[in-house]
Amino acid sequence: MTLLWDRLDDVDGVIGGTRFRLYPQMPELEGFARPETVRVSPPPGTIGPGPFDGAMRVVDAVDKPAPYDFPYMPPYRGPTFPPATPGPDGHFDRIPENSRQFLAAHMYGSVRFTLDVWEAYLGRPVAWYQPHDGFVVELVPEVGWDNAHAGIGFIEAGGRLNKAGAYQRFALNFDVLAHEVGHTLLFSELGIPTIDGLTPQFLAFHESMSDLVALIAMLHFESTLDELIDATGGNLYVQNFLNRIGELSHNEQIRIASNDAKMQDLASLRLTPEGEWIDPTGQGRKGHDLGQPLTGAIFDILVEIYQDGLAHRGLIPHDLDPRGWDRDSVAASLGRFQSVYEGEMSQHRGAFIDALIEARDVVGFALALTWQRLSPGHLSFARVAETFLDVMAEIGQAHNLPAFAENFLERGIDVRETQQVAMPPSRSAPYLVRWRWMRRRATEVRPDSTMRATLDVPEAYARVYGMFSHSFRLEM
Ligand SMILES: [Zn+2]
Repeated sequence: MTLLWDRLDDVDGVIGGTRFRLYPQMPELEGFARPETVRVSPPPGTIGPGPFDGAMRVVDAVDKPAPYDFPYMPPYRGPTFPPATPGPDGHFDRIPENSRQFLAAHMYGSVRFTLDVWEAYLGRPVAWYQPHDGFVVELVPEVGWDNAHAGIGFIEAGGRLNKAGAYQRFALNFDVLAHEVGHTLLFSELGIPTIDGLTPQFLAFHESMSDLVALIAMLHFESTLDELIDATGGNLYVQNFLNRIGELSHNEQIRIASNDAKMQDLASLRLTPEGEWIDPTGQGRKGHDLGQPLTGAIFDILVEIYQDGLAHRGLIPHDLDPRGWDRDSVAASLGRFQSVYEGEMSQHRGAFIDALIEARDVVGFALALTWQRLSPGHLSFARVAETFLDVMAEIGQAHNLPAFAENFLERGIDVRETQQVAMPPSRSAPYLVRWRWMRRRATEVRPDSTMRATLDVPEAYARVYGMFSHSFRLEM
C-alpha cells in the first residue's frame, strides 16, 4: 500500500498542466467575483477545441430542448456553438468571462479539476463508463432545463433564475458540477447494486458523498482556503460559506454540511421499488435529506482533524481544546473561541491554512479508500462508517478514532462496539497501522450484489441514475 503522504504529494501535482479560470463559488458571493486561475492535468497543447482532451468533450448544443433520458442518450448530433479554443500557448485562461466559450471552458475545467483532485486521492485514474471503444464523455453546458445531472457518459447543465431574478448557469457553478462528477466517480468505483440489493441508504450515500466530493474539491482553490480562514478567524465552528454553502449559493447542492440531522428524525422515510421517496411526515424529504446525517458526521470529523492539527501546532490553549467536545459544548464556548482564534490567526495564518489542508487531505484520502472497499449491494451507513473508521486507523488517525466514532453515534449511525488492540508499528510505513480496531463480531455474511458497467447493463445504470431526482434542489 502506498503511504498516505506519498500519495498526497500528488494531489496538487498538476504543475505543468493547462491553465483554466474557474469560479470556486458563485461569483455573486463576496470574495469570489473573479475566477481563480488553476491548472488541470493534461499538459498545454494536448487539449483541443471544445475543450476536448481525448476522454471528454464539451458539446455546446444550440437550444437543446431536453435533458438526456434513457434511451435518449449521447452523442448530441444537432447544431453547436463554436468551441472554446486554447491560446497559442495551449492554455484556456484568456477567454473573456462574458463570452459563450467561457461557459464551455469553465465546465470542462471544473470537471477535470475535480477529477484531478479525486484521482490523486484514489491513486489511479477514474474509469469513465466505456460502453464501447472510442467512447467520449460529453459535457453539455446549456440545456433547456432548470437542473443539472450526470448519466452514462455525459454531464449536462441547465440554469435558472435566482431570487434576484438573474439567470444562473449551472455550467458556471463549480459546486453543482463537482457534485455531478461525484456521482460518476462513485459509480465508477462502486458500480451499482442489483435490484434486490439496492437500499435507500445507497442512494442517500451517493448524495452525501457527492456533496463531500464537491466540498473537498472546493478546498483545493487557494482563494477558498484564504476566504475561509479569513472569514471565520480560523474557527470553522462558526457558520461560514463552507458549511452553509448550499444556502448561500441557493442551489441547495451541499445544503448545510455542518448540520444537526440524525437518523432517528428520518426513520419514517421510505423508498418504493420504483425509486419514489415517501415521507409520512409530509415534509417531502428524499435521498439528500437521508444523506445529511452522514455528511454532517464526516464534516464534524474534518473539523476534528483540523482542531487536532491546530493543537499539535500549539495554536489553541489547553482549556479551549475542543477535540472530542459535543456540538452543544462548542456552541456554548463560541465567543471565547472566536477571540482566541482571531488573536492566534493574525500571527500564524499560514499554520491555520496548513492545518486545514491537512484535514482536507486526510478526509479525502480516507473517503477514497473507503469507497474502494465498499460493495454497493445492501449498503448501509453503518458499514460505511465502520469502513471509514478502519481506514482512518490505518492512515495514522487511531488517536482520533473515539471522537470520530462519537460523531457517527451522535447521528444515530450505528458503529458496532469495537475494542482497540495494540499493533507493533510498521517499520516500512511509519504513518500507517499502529492500531487496528478489532470487530467483536469478526465474521459476517457480506452480500455482494454488484454489477459493474459493462456493455449489457446500460439499462440497469439508467434505472439507478434515474433515481437521483434533483428537482427539489431548486426549492428555496
Ligand atoms: Zn446528486
